[in-house]
Parts: sequence; C-alpha cells; structure tokens
Amino acid sequence: MENNKFGYHSEKLKIGLEAVSLASSITRKIQNALCADDILTKTDSSPVTIADFAAQTVVNSTLSKYLPQAVSMVSEEEGANLTDTKTLESIMRFIENTLNISNYAELKAIVDFGKSTKKTDKFWTLDPIDGTKGFIRGQQYAISLAYVEEEEIQLGILGCPNLNPDLSQNPENINKKGSLLFATKNHGTWSTDIDDPCSNFKPILSSPELSVEELKLCESVEAAHSKHSVTKKILDFLNMKKDSIKLDSQVKYAVVARGQGHIYLRIPTSNHYKEKIWDHAAGCIIAEEAGLVISDIYGKKLDFNCGDELKRNSGIVCAPKKHHDTIIRSIEKNI
Ligand code: AMP
Ligand code: MG
Repeated sequence: MENNKFGYHSEKLKIGLEAVSLASSITRKIQNALCADDILTKTDSSPVTIADFAAQTVVNSTLSKYLPQAVSMVSEEEGANLTDTKTLESIMRFIENTLNISNYAELKAIVDFGKSTKKTDKFWTLDPIDGTKGFIRGQQYAISLAYVEEEEIQLGILGCPNLNPDLSQNPENINKKGSLLFATKNHGTWSTDIDDPCSNFKPILSSPELSVEELKLCESVEAAHSKHSVTKKILDFLNMKKDSIKLDSQVKYAVVARGQGHIYLRIPTSNHYKEKIWDHAAGCIIAEEAGLVISDIYGKKLDFNCGDELKRNSGIVCAPKKHHDTIIRSIEKNI
C-alpha cells in the first residue's frame, strides 16, 4: 500500500482492511452453511449468530496482533453471551484454520478485547455483522469497522460480502464476489478487492447533480428499524422515484456512496430507540467522503462521542448537499 496516500491513519487503515477482509471470508463460509442451531437470541430479543462472534474474534485478533498501542474497542458483541459449549465449538470450527486459539476462555477474551467501561477519546468501533437479520435471510450484511479520534471519525471500512462490485447491477441481488469500501478523513472514498484489499484502489463518488425527481431512496428492509409509511409520504411529497431500494445494514451507505441510490433515510419508529454508533460510523465517513451530507432527521450533526449510542440524535438523513435541507423540511412536514 502506498505510504500516506490515505493520510495520517494509513497504517491503521492497512491493518483494518486485512481484518475486515479476513472476517468477510469467514462470514461468507458461515452464511453458506448456516443452520438453526447457529442462531441465538440476545437479552434485548435481537438475533445473533456464530458469524457475529467469529467475525468479532477475527477483527479483534488482527487489531491486537498488529497495532502497536493499546486499543479501545466499542463493539456490538460480548463474550458473556457465549455460554453454550455447542455454540463455542461451532465458532471454533470456522476460525481454527485462520487463528491460533487454544481454548474457549481465550476465545471469549478476544471477543471482549479492548472493551472498557471508561470513556476514551481514541477508539475503534465494530459491528462484526451489521444487518444480522439480512445475514440470516441470506441477503445483504456488512462488516463495519471505524476509528474515532479528536471527536471525528477518522477512517471507516465496510466489508460487503454479498454486494456486487459491478455498479450497473441491482444491489438488492446478492453476488458472491462482494465489495469492500473504505474512507479516511479528507482522503476520499475508495473501493478495493474484498479478498485482496491492499492494492488496486478505485475512487468512489456519489451523484451530486441530480434533480429531486431523479433521486432514488435507500431504506431498511425491516419496517421496525425505519418508518416506511413516512418515507412513502416523502417520496410522494417530493415527487421522487417511487421504487425505493430496500437493503439491510450499512450496505445502504455503500450504495449511496457509489451513486446507485441517492438518499438514505432512517425515520425513528419509537421515541426511545437510540441508534448505535457501530451501525453508522463506518458508513457515515464512506458516504461523506464520497460527497454526501449526513445528519439526524432534525439536521443536527451526528455526535459519536457519547458512548455506545448516538444519544443526542434521532434517525438518519444521508443526502446530496444540494437536497439535504429540502429533505429535512419534508420530514418535518410528513412525520
Ligand atoms: P438495518 O439493517 O439498516 O435495518 O439496521 C440494522 C440495525 O438496526 C441493527 O444492527 C440494530 O442495531 C438496529 N436496530 C434494532 N432495532 C432498531 C430500531 N427500533 N430502530 C432502528 N434501528 C434498530
Ligand atoms: Mg448492526
């Protein structure tokens, strides 16, 4: 990888790319062989699979091996949820050829690598399988890794093992080649080969000049994650294209960054839910560096410095600069 082409955090980027590429390869194998026993339910009733734990283990293990300093991680999964020997056995089976882990205690310790109760101003945030519901349905999901320092996201990586690298193809259809996108602050958004991530970089740009009527919306598959009735009203109100692109995970940010879709909206379905930082950090910098503007539904900048959650924000608006205000005003009128 050419030194400093991607700025001050190039070395971290290189290690992060290797980690996400390795994790993508393992989650692909698990998705192909997924069975009912590989799926568990967390205390908040959300699903988690052996792939979530395997991917977190692979990313954490790679970061711990190659990063020179102590690392602080804000990650979705917890070793404490690994209580069942059968689950541990299955995870071990998928990672044993990649990592040298001798027992279950060591495996759980790697899942919890870098976890801290203290707030730090430099940290990584990881969603090992973003879009677990999509992963279980055999559809889109992402491995999402970002680094935050000086209150800003400095780098973001999205491994999208089912996203077609061919931009002329419908991103809703799964494709086994997969895509990997990354961005570092002020150095643009790039794509690379998901299986060989440290060479052959291609720049990525969104579609900033379209008129409102030409804009295509990207939104969640899951109606529980974003209010589809409101996005439908907005499409009518602004006379936008009616057929929205429905995708699980931060693949939505990748798709708007690549100009295949143009707006990503996430309209809160409840006043209580707060977005998790690992569900947005990597996607945000990837979309921003490709030319999009991101805020919450009130137009407020996202604040990634309040712990696990975007406590000071509500929902997400990711849109071309010239339409961002129009979208915020249309949400106000239609919500
Ligand atoms: P998506 O695939 O974009 O629909 O988002 C998947 C993410 O939605 C998961 O990683 C969850 O963290 C998050 N999620 C779970 N419940 C909600 C909710 N009620 N509103 C918004 N997001 C949610
Ligand atoms: Mg997630």
